[in-house]
Amino acid sequence: MEARKERSAKSGQRRAEQKKPISHDLIRAYVKRPKNAAERQARMSEILRRLEKMYPGATCALHHENPWQLLVATILSAQCTDKLVNEVTPGLFAKYPTPMDFASVRQEVLANDIHRTGFFNNKAKSIIGAAKRVVAEFGGEVPRTMEEMLTIPGAARKTANVVLGTAYGIASGVVVDTHVQRLAARLDLTKNTNPVKIEQDLMNTVPQSKWILFSHELILHGRALCQARNPKCAACDLNSLCYAKDKTALGLGLA
Ligand code: SF4
Repeated sequence: MEARKERSAKSGQRRAEQKKPISHDLIRAYVKRPKNAAERQARMSEILRRLEKMYPGATCALHHENPWQLLVATILSAQCTDKLVNEVTPGLFAKYPTPMDFASVRQEVLANDIHRTGFFNNKAKSIIGAAKRVVAEFGGEVPRTMEEMLTIPGAARKTANVVLGTAYGIASGVVVDTHVQRLAARLDLTKNTNPVKIEQDLMNTVPQSKWILFSHELILHGRALCQARNPKCAACDLNSLCYAKDKTALGLGLA
């Protein structure tokens, strides 16, 4: 009788232990961390390989037919979903087909046209400023260098990288938006929090030939699985390479 009670108590204890959530420390402890430059490089290559497999043909989600339209769409996408921007831009580009048309519209009129995307006064001001600059300084064509792009109102490095990379295929840097920022930290590709420094770290780690694709893939991954809250680590193919402190599942057996 006593032995049976003891056995039952022990099995109850085992069940309780199995039900206990696995600690983050334990989850992270299963992942081997790179110990030197060669291992870090090998890990980076594997991350790139898996991302390409997960998101084949990854590209920018903003609809556009030319570099100017992509510049406008990127300015509109600040604090707004790409889906909503894609709903607004067809009508906008039909109403204002060229940079010249945007350059001559009144700010309050354009703000009204784009009000659904939020921050419409600032965005209207940036777009009109960008249009005037593109018309006056660059003959109506969006320029092809980072240096020139940064002279355009509303175009900081992130916007410039989106336009140069996607519209022209020019790898001038890595797009660092909120997804890239979060994922670069989780994947231990940077210790920095400033986007410019994060971009530098990524440019030093990722081969230049992959800069454009890599940012598209990270953005897609941030939307699909590696969300800010409760990332879906159990479904993530980067799991066995990831030791993020907020991982939610073990990384064994995934590749
Ligand atoms: S394992 Fe989790 S935290 Fe790491 S990259 Fe995948 S989804 Fe993000």
